[in-house]
Amino acid sequence: VRGLMAGKRGLVMGVANNRSIAFGIARACANAGAKLAFTYQGEALKKRVDPLASELGGEVVGHCDVTDAASIDAVFDKTGEVLGGLDFLVHCIAFSDKDQLDGRYLETTPENFNKTMFISAYSLTAVAQRAEKLMGGGGSILTLTYYGAEKWMPHYNVMGVAKAALEASVRYLAADLGPSNIRVNAISAGPIKTLAASGIGDFRYILKWNELNSPLRRTVTIDEVGDSALYFLSDLGRGVTGEVHHVDAGYHIVGMKNPDAPDI
Ligand code: NAD
Repeated sequence: VRGLMAGKRGLVMGVANNRSIAFGIARACANAGAKLAFTYQGEALKKRVDPLASELGGEVVGHCDVTDAASIDAVFDKTGEVLGGLDFLVHCIAFSDKDQLDGRYLETTPENFNKTMFISAYSLTAVAQRAEKLMGGGGSILTLTYYGAEKWMPHYNVMGVAKAALEASVRYLAADLGPSNIRVNAISAGPIKTLAASGIGDFRYILKWNELNSPLRRTVTIDEVGDSALYFLSDLGRGVTGEVHHVDAGYHIVGMKNPDAPDI
């Protein structure tokens, strides 16, 4: 894949540390020759994102909290200055109050429903609005979703509802931006131990369950998600938009527990 992304300029949103899916995608893009810009959320994460960006030869374009429209505008303005335009955008952003990623969905509060929807679903639309202005020559937008959008998963709760809205947004944005040759797709990643995932109840059990029951009998890594992302973000995927693609060791095709799996 060396050279696959040569000449492509991308903005990566959602790196918190070196375990972030966004970082796996960024690393794959940088190794394939892309020029990258990064945002971070809050000063505490800046300390982590700065060295990771320089490791990949990228630029940090500033703090962005998607609940603050001015901060979104600022990082896109800065990206325009630094990269001179944009060919791809990676959106790896989600949030819900931890105490509602446990127990019953039924207990979701209106405040956390709105917050989860806004940060985890609406933010894709918010960033796509800004990205369109920088993607004069067409482009590719990629977001991250999870199977909990399609099927009930224990503890995923309001985040599953938000991911369903995110996947629908991918289709509506793909239709709106298609005439400008901007593609919008999602990767539905299998469970990976990251900062965000640690907020989900019984996450270790979910990881083990996937390892025992997925067709490949394992979970996936951020580098595997990154390699799959290359297809969507490069010209290899130029005929593909509005897609939700599973990178989950095949778990989404499974209808029943593997009878050979031990009890956990
Ligand atoms: P992570 O904690 O490394 O990344 C989550 C990112 O969201 C962080 O960088 C955080 O700063 C950012 N974020 C949260 N609220 C924000 C806000 N208001 N404004 C701006 N940024 C904000 O975890 P991750 O697992 O790499 O998550 C990335 C994406 O992948 C998320 O959308 C997540 O739902 C999705 N995903 C994760 C898994 C998994 O098992 N880890 C599986 C499928 C999909």
